[in-house]
Amino acid sequence: MRNIELKRLLITIAGVVQGVGFRPFVYRLAAGSSLTGFVRNSSGVVEIEAQGEERNLERFLRQLQSDVPRGATISKLNSSERTCIEERGFRILSSEQSSPVGSQFAADFSICNECLLELEDPSNRRYRYPFINCASCGPRFSIIEDLPYDRVRTTMRKFQMCAECTAEYINPADRRFHAQAISCFSCGPTLTYLCDAAEAGKSNSRVSNALEAAIVALKGNAILAVKGLAGFHLMCRLNEQTIDKLRERKHRDRKPFAVLMKNTEMASKYFDLSQMGADLLQSAAAPIVLMKPLSQNSFPHNIAPGLTHIGVIFPSTPVQHLLLSGVNEPLLCTSANISDEPISISIETALHKLTDVADGFLDNDRDISARYDDSVLKPVTGGTSIIRRSRGIAPVPLGISTQSKQEVLAFGAFLKSAFCYVRGNDAYLSQHIGDLDNLEAEEFFLESLEAYAKLFRLTPSLVACDLHPDYLSTHLAARYSEEKKLPLVHVQHHHAHIVAIMAEHGLREPCLGVALDGTGYGLDGTIWGGEFLKVQYDSFERLGHFEYAPMSGAESAIKNPWRMTLGYISNLSGEEQAEFGAAIEDLLADFGISTVNLVKQQLQAKFNSPLTSSCGRLFDAVSALLGVCKQASYEGQAAAELEAIALPRFEGSGSLEKFLDESYPVDICNEETVLIQSSRILSCVNNDLKRGIDTCTVAARFHATIARLVYQTVATLSARTNINRVCFGGGVFQNELLIRLLRHQFNKSELSIYFASKAPSNDGGIALGQAMVALAKCGQLEI
Ligand code: ZN
Ligand code: ZN
Ligand code: FE
Repeated sequence: MRNIELKRLLITIAGVVQGVGFRPFVYRLAAGSSLTGFVRNSSGVVEIEAQGEERNLERFLRQLQSDVPRGATISKLNSSERTCIEERGFRILSSEQSSPVGSQFAADFSICNECLLELEDPSNRRYRYPFINCASCGPRFSIIEDLPYDRVRTTMRKFQMCAECTAEYINPADRRFHAQAISCFSCGPTLTYLCDAAEAGKSNSRVSNALEAAIVALKGNAILAVKGLAGFHLMCRLNEQTIDKLRERKHRDRKPFAVLMKNTEMASKYFDLSQMGADLLQSAAAPIVLMKPLSQNSFPHNIAPGLTHIGVIFPSTPVQHLLLSGVNEPLLCTSANISDEPISISIETALHKLTDVADGFLDNDRDISARYDDSVLKPVTGGTSIIRRSRGIAPVPLGISTQSKQEVLAFGAFLKSAFCYVRGNDAYLSQHIGDLDNLEAEEFFLESLEAYAKLFRLTPSLVACDLHPDYLSTHLAARYSEEKKLPLVHVQHHHAHIVAIMAEHGLREPCLGVALDGTGYGLDGTIWGGEFLKVQYDSFERLGHFEYAPMSGAESAIKNPWRMTLGYISNLSGEEQAEFGAAIEDLLADFGISTVNLVKQQLQAKFNSPLTSSCGRLFDAVSALLGVCKQASYEGQAAAELEAIALPRFEGSGSLEKFLDESYPVDICNEETVLIQSSRILSCVNNDLKRGIDTCTVAARFHATIARLVYQTVATLSARTNINRVCFGGGVFQNELLIRLLRHQFNKSELSIYFASKAPSNDGGIALGQAMVALAKCGQLEI
């Protein structure tokens, strides 16, 4: 070849490009276009020098961006010209061990299509091999002990690669090139089936053909604990009796379970897969996706009682795939734990904790180094809402456009806890840890905190936590900051919720924030949760809120929505209270006269009845008044079931408009602080009930009322402050219907609105906001 026809480019690619088979991908493209040069990982980016004919280089550049491997994302691609050199062939250079650890790194990936084909191909040497994987699928963070990501630093270390696997591992053209978890029947992990926890350790309890034994057990309606990528799952068939048995054993009354489906072919019998849901289901993260079934009778009623949506998940591991092929029907699939404790990752814990829950255990000897629950996503109008951010998504950092000058660690809140480190433009929001109310969760939290620091070389010099003095996370943060002698910044809960949204969307100017959620410690000592704020990173002003109502029995009111109904009613005049006569009798019939009287006395004496402006509690009160959910067995149940009965009313076109028109005539007190009169809403609901309006319509009107009041309040405040960007944060915004109603109104206005999309809107995303507020307050954020 003559030099004059050649051109050489230096191409650097940033994004999720390491640990996803990106270099072999580049190698194959380059070879296909007769290019010479090399590719290597360098300081968190992929660096390519490619030389060849101009049109070949152009095609190469196009394909680099259009054909990216599954799980990889390119955030930036730069190319510049270099002088051509004499060289032959295209090479993959080994990564520089000394280079800083790349911040962009892939999470655990579900089994890919190529591996699936091999899994089902009798002529392939990995036919039905339960641990088949390649450079673009399989475990990552769940097996890593340190970075850079090489087999010696993973739990796969103990499996010596056989000659055949080694040949694939070192061949740049092979799709298993540098696949750190590569293995096969002759060199990899093995499955074990234990049929009885009590028999564990005895040789006769280990069945030789573990997979077959598990399939037989499942078919016989057993409940199995099955080791997954990043934790054990409980699985069983989808029949009413077995689900009831599982609920009883797991102490899980009504909280929904997810359903494991083999593929789109199976799922399309139950769901309309033309929606965005199908893409999410098939994505490398393989999350649980909340979808509405084609028919409400497709599933046993006790899978997700009182809800319209069912959580669906596709297999994340070959083992799950083989199980589904064996039973040939969908299976129930849920995290293997008791109540809200962390998911089990070792067979020892699983046997110890789940002796009375599982009938059999399908284990394997590939150790899990970090636990991740399944992530939960919900397609909503205008995007995807992340309900739980975990396997397949964490710990890949969220990119933020504001630059931090210092490293910070935020400890989150109490429910759905997650911590967050921020360094530069990267926010390392941890996986879902769970409610910080048991020793196991505390250990999981602290373990993960350490693991992130070690993996990503994080050394925070600033600490942030919630304002609540009694949260365990606040105590842990105080201890951490004391031990390490670091400043600690307490951040108001709803300030953090809104700043999390601002950070996610790169908003720099002051915004209006609507924080609607369950509970958060307020500046005035009351419990906030229905707040209208003017927010900057380092400060906020409270411009309005929902009316305060007493929570009789404090925490007890959260589990007993009926207590909130009485709480709101107690705000009304005696005459207005009397109007509730019949409804209240119905409501309270279940609870016994002495309990009811006790609550009434508490309210009258203002004893153990802290005040709250929480919008979540208002949903609870209405849900109970309508008889939808008077007692909650899981967080958010009353609101979720209220939304579920309202949703079908919004099916026809124009129904949004119709219900907004029918929303209740409730005034907003337009004083210096704007006040929404929540207890008046209960009066209106009660009037509808007395007129015999059906509960679904009332629930629809209630949603429309909240949406209209929020819109009006924001419009008022926007006019007052001249701010036209509005951020919505807090757990209430998991409510899809409310989001639809809000979008509908705001789309017609001049205001720009922002919801959470990369981090959860609930307390699972609050640590991100805390970190940003702390940085700003200390002058460490470049805005
Ligand atoms: Zn694969
Ligand atoms: Zn092998
Ligand atoms: Fe919250």
